[in-house]
Amino acid sequence: MKQSSAFQQNTRVGILGAGQLGKMLAIAAADWHLPIHALDRSRDFPAAPYCAQFTEGDFKDPEAVYAFGKTVDVLTIEIEHVALDALFRLESEGVVVHPRPSALAVIKDKGLQKQFWVQHGLPSSPFRLYDSGEALREALRSGREKYPIVQKARTEGYDGRGVAVIRSEKYLPKILDAPCLAEDLVPIHKELAVIACRNASGETKAFPAVEMTFHSEANLVEFLLCPARIDPHVEKAAEELALHAIEALDVCGLLAVELFLTTSGELLINEVAPRPHNSGHHTINNSYTSQFEQHLRGILNLPLGSVQVQSPAAMLNLLGEPGHSGPAHYQGMEACLAMEGVKVHLYGKAMTQPHRKMGHVTVLAESLEAAIEKAEQVRDVLKVVAGQER
Ligand code: ADP
Repeated sequence: MKQSSAFQQNTRVGILGAGQLGKMLAIAAADWHLPIHALDRSRDFPAAPYCAQFTEGDFKDPEAVYAFGKTVDVLTIEIEHVALDALFRLESEGVVVHPRPSALAVIKDKGLQKQFWVQHGLPSSPFRLYDSGEALREALRSGREKYPIVQKARTEGYDGRGVAVIRSEKYLPKILDAPCLAEDLVPIHKELAVIACRNASGETKAFPAVEMTFHSEANLVEFLLCPARIDPHVEKAAEELALHAIEALDVCGLLAVELFLTTSGELLINEVAPRPHNSGHHTINNSYTSQFEQHLRGILNLPLGSVQVQSPAAMLNLLGEPGHSGPAHYQGMEACLAMEGVKVHLYGKAMTQPHRKMGHVTVLAESLEAAIEKAEQVRDVLKVVAGQER
């Protein structure tokens, strides 16, 4: 419908999901006064207060997604686990859906995603598919599959859930019972991410690569560093891979590409997400264009914004403190806000749980080293604990 037309202020953009990504997308849309409509299960979710219209419903329910899709001009997602059949139906009836449902079908299933990289000559680690956890166990017992491997559930995994590292026989009980793939364990030097964007006119751009460091217990990103501390030729190769991937998948809007840089200097695609991503949050504060604005430009077929970085940044996820479940209470806010270059983003989730993503903080500084140092202070000072209900 709107695919080739210019900017119109009353274009109704629908988002499936009203979590923090939806909230930040709605905030970016407000700059252009675009009305955002969101579908999710509760008005208590982070994006709800920032949307022109909020529909209560389950984005996994085909009827709810179909009915919601009929009320918007352009439909996008903040999570992959949505009712795909409804998206195909909406697309066939003229609703602009980005990412395209056919690309989402490939991306949602880690097995299909891996096969896609092979078919398109994009590098990723070797893998084998299994129908069940038991079939994988059997392959390991019989020696057809060799330790160590990384088992991944084909669908529904996120933030490290659905991933198990099986190093030896001792780890067999950790095998997940689901259709899955077994990947070779990659000797990782660094984990990188590149966020690419594309519009329907075929314009593409990639934000500079970022480097991720991980929280040891939660297996969530702890610090994200921009720019990544890598050689310029690795940086260039990473950006080219991301652009190749977004073209191959024919995605409009963002494609976040997670990469492994191996100890031997090879770049491998780990996985991709066709939406705003945790690894792009720093762009709100340190880039000419934020990833959220870029996603809107991509899905609305507008010229893509500059991906130039204005300052080094270290981003940290603000995770619920271990041992704390209950109404969220923030400790150390004043101390953080007194620090120069510290930008706190709270998602407004009412309840905290151990390791739940409750917000993020981007630290800007003249050098990356200075940003990291300050990010460590923020990590030690800012805590989300369970407080008294008010
Ligand atoms: P999720 O979709 O849950 O984020 P990922 O596929 O990104 O799962 O895996 C989570 C983490 O597990 C990665 O960030 C990486 O640290 C580790 N990992 C995943 N695949 C491999 C692999 N093949 N070799 C080594 N480590 C891996």
